[in-house]
Amino acid sequence: YQGKRGTADIVVYTGERTAHPTQWLVVQAELRHALERDELVLCYQPKVRLADGTICGVEALVRWQHPERGLLPPSEFLPAAEQSGLIEPLTAWVLRRALADQAAWTAAGRDWTVSVNVSARNVEAADFTGVVESLLAEFGTAPDRLILEITETAMVDDKVTALTAIRRLADGGVGFSVDDFGTGYTSLDRLRGVPLVELKIDRTFVATVLDEPENQAIVHAVIALSRGLGCRVTAEGVESAEIADWLAAAGCDEAQGYYYSRPMPWAQISVPMPEEAIR
Ligand code: C2E
Ligand code: MG
Ligand code: MG
Ligand code: MG
Repeated sequence: YQGKRGTADIVVYTGERTAHPTQWLVVQAELRHALERDELVLCYQPKVRLADGTICGVEALVRWQHPERGLLPPSEFLPAAEQSGLIEPLTAWVLRRALADQAAWTAAGRDWTVSVNVSARNVEAADFTGVVESLLAEFGTAPDRLILEITETAMVDDKVTALTAIRRLADGGVGFSVDDFGTGYTSLDRLRGVPLVELKIDRTFVATVLDEPENQAIVHAVIALSRGLGCRVTAEGVESAEIADWLAAAGCDEAQGYYYSRPMPWAQISVPMPEEAIR
């Protein structure tokens, strides 16, 4: 899976937090093994309807159970995966795991969507629609139970392939969501012609919304924009009841955040959960 861009002269450190800065090349080699050895794990974070506090879906968030370094967050390995082309098998793994789990909770009577984050590089790959369509067929998933989260940067590269893939999957019923909305490089022009079911307001706007009038203005504007586009709007990073109440009053549809639940393993989320206890 060594991608065209995975050149050998790239030496980038994965972050200041690492005591011994790890080269991407090392991460890439290890990640290749991790995929083979099934060391990746998915956590799920509930998405909650602000109107009544019920769960309407979950977002899948990948982690790497590293044999020596412990449970690694995506920031420790996704950049290396994107650089090397490993993002394609990684995303395929995430989609397969998420749709398998989604089939299990659907069978248990839970009508939850599953949101999966995809990189620009995935959407631009020639076989992306084929991968998604065959997994939907394999698990018998209703396409509208799957939401693919793309960042604004995925729409910046004016790639015809990306838009063609999005349109084709959306025509088949798959939902598309713009993640971290407001932090990317998109001009609003990019949103035209992209069939969206959701805008997700980045948590940098949400976290301090009670104290910062600018963020209130931004959140109001994104809510109004989503209304105009005819899609839902979700706030990410909701950490308090006060913020949830403010968002509900502002007309936000859905919320995610530590206030409701941290991302957790499916085994924990699948434990019968009194819906009313969420809020
Ligand atoms: P994201 O898609 O915007 O996901 C939200 C991130 O915010 C997650 O971090 C989540 O754990 C965190 N979060 C949720 N609620 C709160 C809160 O109330 N407060 C704070 N401070 N943080 C909160 P995580 O899991 O580390 O993921 C980081 C990013 O990595 C994701 O941002 C997404 O862009 C990317 N990512 C995660 N899983 C995947 C994946 O399977 N594939 C791809 N391509 N990207 C992924
Ligand atoms: Mg996301
Ligand atoms: Mg996000
Ligand atoms: Mg984010």
